[in-house]
Order: sequence, then structure tokens, then C-alpha cells
Amino acid sequence: MALATHNFSTDNHGWAELLTKREATSPLSGDHRVPWVVIGAGVTGLSAAKRLAQYNPNDQIILLDARKLGQGASGRNSGYAVAISQFSGAFDKNQETNYRRVNRINTQGLDLLRQQVNDLGIDCQWQEDGFYHTAADEKSLKEYDNFKDHLNQLGYEHTLLNQDELTERLGTNLYKSGVHVPKGVLLQPAALVHGLGDNLPHNVTLYENSPVLKINQGEPAVLDLENGKITADKVIIATNYEAPKLGFIKRYIMGSTLSGSFTRQLTTDELSSLGTLKEWGVLSLHSGGATVRLTQDNRFSLRNTAEYHGAVLMSDTLLSKRREIHRAAFEKRFPQLAHVPFEFSWSGVEGISQNFTNFFGQQTSNIYLAGGYNGSGVSRGTAFGAALADYACNVSSQLVDDCLASAPATWIPPRPFLDIGAFFKVKMRFIGVGLDR
Ligand SMILES: Cc1cc2nc3c(=O)[nH]c(=O)nc-3n(C[C@H](O)[C@H](O)[C@H](O)COP(=O)(O)OP(=O)(O)OC[C@H]3O[C@@H](n4cnc5c(N)ncnc54)[C@H](O)[C@@H]3O)c2cc1C
Repeated sequence: MALATHNFSTDNHGWAELLTKREATSPLSGDHRVPWVVIGAGVTGLSAAKRLAQYNPNDQIILLDARKLGQGASGRNSGYAVAISQFSGAFDKNQETNYRRVNRINTQGLDLLRQQVNDLGIDCQWQEDGFYHTAADEKSLKEYDNFKDHLNQLGYEHTLLNQDELTERLGTNLYKSGVHVPKGVLLQPAALVHGLGDNLPHNVTLYENSPVLKINQGEPAVLDLENGKITADKVIIATNYEAPKLGFIKRYIMGSTLSGSFTRQLTTDELSSLGTLKEWGVLSLHSGGATVRLTQDNRFSLRNTAEYHGAVLMSDTLLSKRREIHRAAFEKRFPQLAHVPFEFSWSGVEGISQNFTNFFGQQTSNIYLAGGYNGSGVSRGTAFGAALADYACNVSSQLVDDCLASAPATWIPPRPFLDIGAFFKVKMRFIGVGLDR
């Protein structure tokens, strides 16, 4: 039978372009027999492989990625490693256990990342000063009240800021209200993924540009690749929204394509036209609002589009249209920097479910899967990856229980309803976005 071929699109997104060039590892070839295979070298797969290696120091673990390291969502996101999630809507006492569960997972993921960044000396612009959650328009101002209530009820440290205080810190007067939550990390996503992938434990071998084309289920499972085959006792699938290409969580996960841009480095004069903070990250209190960062290397990064685009990256033509939306948002916030050009624009695909739940658990007796964290996968994916390795090794922990408690995903109808449903699902996040975009 002919093997399925799938398109694993890549491009020169800016986050990776700004780093020192690294050579990809050789693609996998030949026949291999190993106890463990991890498919997908984003934060989930990297974390799972590391944890498996700790438990099984004498086992060989193969880690595969269809693309070059850093080309997946983990290397091209906006770089917010979240500890405290923002749940929209009024605080619901019946959901308190769930809110706390999700934040425990986020925090564990963040702790794991911090430890690795420190132990391995990864230079990824790690900045641990939390985020600004901001509101500029009517709908986000309502969410501001909701978020304040959430933080108070859950007892999380935060500081409320009015328009003047935000202007003084950030250098834009667009936001009327905001909350600074000090837990949370800003980072350079491609630098993080390169750092983790280039410093794997001795018994993990990474093969880039090595798409798995088919999984022949059984004990052991047999994986078909273009120039090789792997027979493995246990398989971890960490391919996020691309799991359906391998026949898993079909009709439960879809991809939403986001896009953003970042400027060239600002000059000293340009920086002095801004607020008092040298580096910061804003998360909008509106789900469709812009994510805006002043990065450690003095660039603005802004992301403010999301759409259903068949779960692939944007073409240059489409991206240049989206860049106009980024541009308008940038100049609205910083008219004093209207002359500063964008140096890069990029798109990326995040995995989402119909009911915004995450995926975790066993698919068959020896195949495990985690993924689909919407826009919060940096810390959460790291935690899910480690927990999945625990689970596959029969290690019990609070983290495993927390991940297992994720609500089941609701079913997504087949095409063409999938396309229509997904189109509206993603579009809905922009209702009432107004000035926050
Ligand atoms: C533009 C954008 C901005 C975002 N901003 C943030 C943010 O600021 N903070 C945050 O927490 N989250 C953010 N996210 C979401 C976050 O990036 C993801 O949730 C997270 O990276 C998912 O990690 P992952 O390892 O599960 O998947 P991925 O990073 O998608 O990795 C999956 C890997 O599997 C590989 N793969 C797929 N199929 C195969 C196959 N058949 N064979 C071999 N390999 C395969 C892919 O090449 C890919 O590298 C953003 C996402 C996007 C797109």
C-alpha cells in the first residue's frame, strides 16, 4: 500500500531567523528497534522525551520531527509562558477546582522549563516578571472586572493599573485598565526549542525532517517513514493539530492559523519615547485582542489575527495582507513609532478543540497522546509532555491526575461542516474586539 504523504509546511519565520544558524540533524534512515518513540519535537515531545530518558536511562529513545527544530508552533509562538490562565466570563464557584487544576498544570510546566533553562544554560531571553492583562474597549473592560474577581477569589497576587499608570509603564495610552500578574515568563520561543533540542539526554536521539507517514498499530508498533522504519514498544504522539494525519483524534482537534509581525530593533531615541519598562508583554483581556511585546532585544512583537485556514501556514501574499492589520494595530498604539518598519512577519498554527479542552491519555495499549492547548501551550505543553511520560511509565503523580481530569473533547463534524464550523469558531473570538485589536 502506498504511504500517505502529507505537506509539512515550513518558512523563514523571524524567531528562528534571528538566532545563530544551526544545522538540522540527519533524517532517519534504515530500520530501528527501540523501546520508545516520541513523535513531534515541540515543547510537548521534548518534555516527554526528557522525562522518559530520566526514568529509563538504559533505553534508547527516538525523537522525530517532520520539520526542522523550531518550525512547529513551539518555535513560532508569541513567547508567553503562562502560569495563571485567564478564564473568560464571571468567576464560577463550581469551576474553582478546574481553574486551580489548570493553573497547577501551567505552574508545573513553567517550573520544569525554568529548571531546564537554568541547568542547560539556555539563552532564550527568559524574563520572569509576568504579564499585563489589558482592556481598551467595552467588552474587554467587562472582562477586566471578571479577571479581577478571578484573581481575588483564587488568591493570586496582582496589581491593578489605571490608564495613566499603564501609559507611564508601557508608553501607550490605548489601554484604559489593566492588571499586572507577576507570575509568568516572556521568552524567545525558537531559542527555547533549539536549546532544549540541542541538549537532550544521552539516550535520546533526535531526527529532524523525518515525518512519520504511518503508524501500524500493534505490540510492538511499527512506524513507516520515507527512508526507514521503526519498531517500538511504546509510542508517544506529540504532533498537536497534526495528529489526525496519523489517524488519531480525528474530528476532535483543528488548527487555527495566527499571524504577527515584529519590528527592527528600536534605537535609543525611539526607546526613550516609550514608557519606563524596558521589557514587557501585554495579553489582551479580549480573546481577539492583540498580544504585544517589547522584547529583550528592543523589538516590538505584535500578534492580532487568527483564522481557520485549513491548518497550514500562510502564503507570503496572505501574510502581507495580514501585515497591514498588524501595522494598523502597532501605529494605533505607538504613533510616535509609525516610521519604524516591521522586519519579520510570521504565521503559525495552534491546535484547538471545539470545547477548548486539552488532550491527554492513552489511545491504544501502547500509544499515548497529548496536545491541543490553544494559545497556552508553552508551559502547559511542557507539563503535559512530562505527565504523559509519567503515565506511560506507570508513575502516578498529582500532575498526571490533573492532566487526566481534562474534559473530553467534543466532536467536530466532517468536511464541509468542519470548515464552516471551524471558520465561525475562530471568527467568534473577535466579536466586539474594537480598540483591543
Ligand atoms: C502564532 C502563535 C502564537 C502563540 N503564542 C503562544 C504563547 O505566547 N504562549 C503559549 O503558551 N502558547 C502560544 N501558542 C500556542 C503554543 O505555541 C502551542 O500550544 C504549543 O507550542 C504546542 O506545543 P506542541 O509541542 O504540542 O506542538 P508543536 O509545537 O506544534 O509541535 C508538534 C511537532 O510535531 C511535528 N509533527 C507533526 N506531525 C508529525 C509527523 N507525522 N511526524 C513527525 N513529526 C510530526 C511538527 O513538525 C511539530 O514540530 C501560540 C501558537 C501560535 C501558532
